[in-house]
Amino acid sequence: MKVAIIGTGYVGLPTGAGLASLGHEVCCIDCDRDKVERLRAGQVPLFEAGLEDLLREGVASGKLRFTDSMSEGVRGAKIVLLAVGTPENPETGEANLDYLFAATKEMLPHIEKSTIVAIKSTVPVGTGDRVESVLPGNEVVSLPEFLREGYALQDFFHPDRIIVGAQDESAYAVIRELYAPMRPIPLILRVSRRSSETIKYASNAFLAVKIHYINEMADFCGKVGANINEVAQGMGLDSRIGSSFLKPGPGYGGSCFPKDTKAIEYMGRRAGVELSLIRAAIAGNQKRSKNIAQRILKRVEDETSPRIAIWGLAFKAGTDDVRESPAIGIVQHLLCHPGVTVVVHDPKALNNARSILGDRVIYDREMYNTVQQANILIILTEWPQFSTADWGKIKRLMKGKVVFDFRHIINPADIYDNGLIYTGI
Ligand code: NAD
Repeated sequence: MKVAIIGTGYVGLPTGAGLASLGHEVCCIDCDRDKVERLRAGQVPLFEAGLEDLLREGVASGKLRFTDSMSEGVRGAKIVLLAVGTPENPETGEANLDYLFAATKEMLPHIEKSTIVAIKSTVPVGTGDRVESVLPGNEVVSLPEFLREGYALQDFFHPDRIIVGAQDESAYAVIRELYAPMRPIPLILRVSRRSSETIKYASNAFLAVKIHYINEMADFCGKVGANINEVAQGMGLDSRIGSSFLKPGPGYGGSCFPKDTKAIEYMGRRAGVELSLIRAAIAGNQKRSKNIAQRILKRVEDETSPRIAIWGLAFKAGTDDVRESPAIGIVQHLLCHPGVTVVVHDPKALNNARSILGDRVIYDREMYNTVQQANILIILTEWPQFSTADWGKIKRLMKGKVVFDFRHIINPADIYDNGLIYTGI
């Protein structure tokens, strides 16, 4: 099947590579000409495990190509997938649909009437109706994306479910054809278009609330002398609760949860429904970075010019994405404190972090260099290499002794055995 994908970001690229490997003829379109040039030259503009190889295979097989020309991309396509960004409007919290409607209007002169348009971007309820009114004659389907950065290809090939919001039988048949080559055959749930759009927001908001809940519970445990790891384990064994998303940490981040919680809260307000749990999660999560920075600063308050080493800037392991990363927020709060020097390391996200933090911190590509003469070491992303670090070497390099593990990835005994002091949440 001929497929066009608009947007070659964290969603569009893995989806394009995945669909090409299933045998479809895929054209990825992006308005960013530099990005398209880089992709054509075999350079991948983002980090995602396995993506580079899959893109290379797709291009070599002739099934995958890249263009910045909308007419070239959508011509003859049986389906167009919209995967452009829908960032937050910082004033209202609502989703900004400028990119989505720009792309829709750009394709209008080139798209054939028989082409199905599927919206993969996360969009407010009712957006499918609006896109359809811009493209009269084309069937518009909601096909929300649930991939997790760091596991994007695994999630593409083995999705828990595929949600299809299709009004029309023939459009639904095209979606089934799109995923037909997948083995095992994925579970496809067909619902109304508005339900499909809601499922995406309701799922992300639920996960954000779960994270906020366990973070609050961790703070409670800290005050009453309970251990949050034990508490989370005990809760997770209850099949009604489940063990995932019960790990306390520095708060949720990334390009989805923060903006999607705000967007659904905005939609709730517009609809006259108070989504109080989501509102509480948003407020609690926003406070968390500052609160964590204060906990760190308290540990170095006796130093006149403390040197703070940070391991991890990506919003989670397995990605170079720092959008709304709690680590970035925490570093920004630390930098407000006079005399503080912050030295940072991340295996993949240093370049993206530099575009936000500029020259206000010291960057190091080598994790052990970061801790030299540091008063304190803070772990903010759960990269596996941090959990197996050489703590004896770190003890020799550091000036201070405290290791703050905000991701709970280190065995405290490894720290204590080497004469350091472990602190978790
Ligand atoms: P992204 O910012 O990484 O990529 C978007 C791409 O779209 C960019 O390359 C941009 O240049 C391109 N673009 C913008 N306007 C365009 C236009 N008019 N024509 C052609 N290209 C255009 O975004 P992303 O992280 O891939 O997210 C895309 C959508 O998917 C968002 O709605 C997001 O909420 C949703 N989503 C993201 C994830 C994730 O993990 N990143 C997961 C599920 C859903």
